[in-house]
Amino acid sequence: MNRVYNFSAGPSCLPEEVLKECAAEMLDCNGTGQSVMEMSHRSSAFKPIIENTERLVRRLMNVPDNYKILFLQGGASTQFAMIPLNLGIKSGKAAYIKTGVWAKKAEAEAKKLGIQVTEIASSEDKNFTYIPKIEKVTGDYDYVHITFNNTIMGTHYEYIPDTGSIPLVADISSCILSEPLDVSKFGLLYAGAQKNLAPAGVTLVIIREDLITETPRAGTPTMLTYKTHADEGSMFNTPPCYTIYVMGKVLTWVESKGGAEGMKKLNYEKADLLYNYLDNSTYYHATAEKGSRSIMNIPFLTKETDAAKAKEINDKFVKGAVAAGMVNLAGHRLVGGMRASIYNAMPVDGVKALIKYMDKFAKENS
Ligand SMILES: *Cc1c(COP(=O)(O)O)cnc(C)c1O
Repeated sequence: MNRVYNFSAGPSCLPEEVLKECAAEMLDCNGTGQSVMEMSHRSSAFKPIIENTERLVRRLMNVPDNYKILFLQGGASTQFAMIPLNLGIKSGKAAYIKTGVWAKKAEAEAKKLGIQVTEIASSEDKNFTYIPKIEKVTGDYDYVHITFNNTIMGTHYEYIPDTGSIPLVADISSCILSEPLDVSKFGLLYAGAQKNLAPAGVTLVIIREDLITETPRAGTPTMLTYKTHADEGSMFNTPPCYTIYVMGKVLTWVESKGGAEGMKKLNYEKADLLYNYLDNSTYYHATAEKGSRSIMNIPFLTKETDAAKAKEINDKFVKGAVAAGMVNLAGHRLVGGMRASIYNAMPVDGVKALIKYMDKFAKENS
């Protein structure tokens, strides 16, 4: 067996220990004679599994007691609709900060659902290479929406915007548990699992109880109402059982590495290695501005400025990386170049191997 270093932006690599445990329990989980895939979600065998995952989320993220944890489906993209449908009910107004592709999609969905959207800040002027610094947000907004880590652009908030009593909503799909986060500063946090938590298929929502309403916007489907899932412990319908089980294993792994603090230390070690290399290189450069850089997703370009030649070089880089055991390094078309996603599960050795390859490639191609 030949495992590769997988730099995919999502779905992405999982800790090898977790994959091995899942494999060992595939045919018989905890002496039940079944795989978790085969269990009834209402069985006594599955109940401790979902409870364990929820307990771990609460413990690792220090979630205050007045927040509910929901395990939903439809990805982070479905939250783009659920948030306006459930939260946009007092003034029908919301503020959005535009920092990239996912932020734009979230904003577009709110507009589609009849919310009066104000874009209070944007970094579109510089192709989303930075996070705007905003002053305290005031107004009669029902909520303020931010994308905390911009997976495609490789940017990340280094501060939490002050929204006073207006609920702050954040998409943390690509940075959840990468470092400590003060949950109490947010009204709602959401994350598709396939970046830092589990395989694709479950979306984690952490919502303050007072934001769970009986009366979402008119016409909101039952399945898109937070209360439906909150009242039923995420068991209104069949939850993504197996993914919730794997998430529990990933969270146990995170805990064994020192929790959110441990992840932060590990992630900065990896990100610093790569950024330092990029900042000192005459061949490559990082695209995100200092002060706004993601420690999870790191896009970079070579010095080749001619578009056709750059494409050729990038293709060569990506192909050579595959041959060297490193996959999914192609950049997003909106940024170009390459992108290394180095989520929690990426070992330090993976980043070191990447830098070694980059250095060799630079010498051979400059
Ligand atoms: C991947 C991603 C999404 C989309 O997630 P889906 O689960 O595919 O809907 C949304 N926001 C961010 C920040 C992401 O990284």
